[in-house]
Amino acid sequence: MAVNLLDFDADGLTAWFAEQGEKPFRAKQVLRWMHRSGVADFDAMTDIAKSLREKLKARAVVAPPAVVSDKLSDDGTRKFLIDVGNGNAVETVLIPEDDRGTLCISTQAGCALDCAFCSTGKQGFNRNLTVSEIIGQLWQANNALGVVHGDERVISNVVMMGMGEPLANYDNTVAALRLMLEDHAYGLSRRRVTVSTSGLVPVIDRLREDCPVALAVSLHAPNDRLRDELVPINQKYPLKELMAACQRYLEKAPRDFITFEYTMMAGVNDSEAHAREVLALVRDVPCKFNLIPFNPFPGSPFRRSPAEQVRRFADILIQAGIVTTKRKTRGDDIDAACGQLAGQVQDKTRRTAGRMIPLTEVRS
Ligand code: SAH
Ligand code: SF4
Repeated sequence: MAVNLLDFDADGLTAWFAEQGEKPFRAKQVLRWMHRSGVADFDAMTDIAKSLREKLKARAVVAPPAVVSDKLSDDGTRKFLIDVGNGNAVETVLIPEDDRGTLCISTQAGCALDCAFCSTGKQGFNRNLTVSEIIGQLWQANNALGVVHGDERVISNVVMMGMGEPLANYDNTVAALRLMLEDHAYGLSRRRVTVSTSGLVPVIDRLREDCPVALAVSLHAPNDRLRDELVPINQKYPLKELMAACQRYLEKAPRDFITFEYTMMAGVNDSEAHAREVLALVRDVPCKFNLIPFNPFPGSPFRRSPAEQVRRFADILIQAGIVTTKRKTRGDDIDAACGQLAGQVQDKTRRTAGRMIPLTEVRS
């Protein structure tokens, strides 16, 4: 079977070219064509000798995953449904802002971690996305925007906050991250690329060594009793260990901070007492907070915290000197808000048999 060149990071591509008897600079040229110019057709790679183009055509393809649908929200948010084969699809969301564009990408079809308030988690897990399926979301979004040369940075920021837990698909996630940072590919700075994790402590340590990009940690609760319920992986890696891992992460990047994500659910985790407990918990971790309004989905038992309660919670953090933002809910008219991403996932674990959200319901 032909090799998909979008499955390689720069080093991987160089190694594959070497196996074909080709020099490293050829790999670099092809890398630039694919990722900076968005070209998938070898014949359009005009500075590559015809003989090499023929060789590549015989042995390889440049195959991004297909876009099944492309929807525009009233507020400019754009949601792509990406086919990942065998009846599965994942979602990619483009959030335009005045001075930048942020792309929210998925790393798994479904998620095995089953957080209580997350639509993706409730669908169960199918499989890890490949490198080409992860980087292919950025490739396709650039393509849809008509970005033909990588020097135009329409998409200036990437957040791995779509479907799935990026650190549970570590190798493919890191290869995709490296392509995002690579000058001959997307050339984004490591502060503009964010991995969001529910708190896989040993893998946070690996990421710190391998590719220390910006880190967001899904906190959602200030004590183990509550977090065990909301984010079940906490039973394995409790808060004390998670906070220590956050501190270790920042040793590699001393001028940085951790972003804690905190989804506000009425009467569950949003009281002033919870806010004060949060302050004590994060005392030794340089951090910012991002308060996310809970986004309901069919069958979810939680409600969104009232705006006034979110303000009171935020004020306590702000008064203690923590930069705190309240995330605007964007794209909810097309179900593109955080935690609403459902895509279409055939659950392999059968954990959630009968609980899956039919595609028609999600898409209506
Ligand atoms: N698996 C990773 C990244 C994907 S989720 C993680 O958990 O961090 C991106 C963010 O959306 C996480 O902070 C997640 O907890 C949050 N989220 C999930 N479901 C949500 C919902 N229904 N409403 C608001 N935020 C939600
Ligand atoms: Fe998975 Fe993140 Fe959803 Fe939890 S919040 S189930 S880790 S995608």
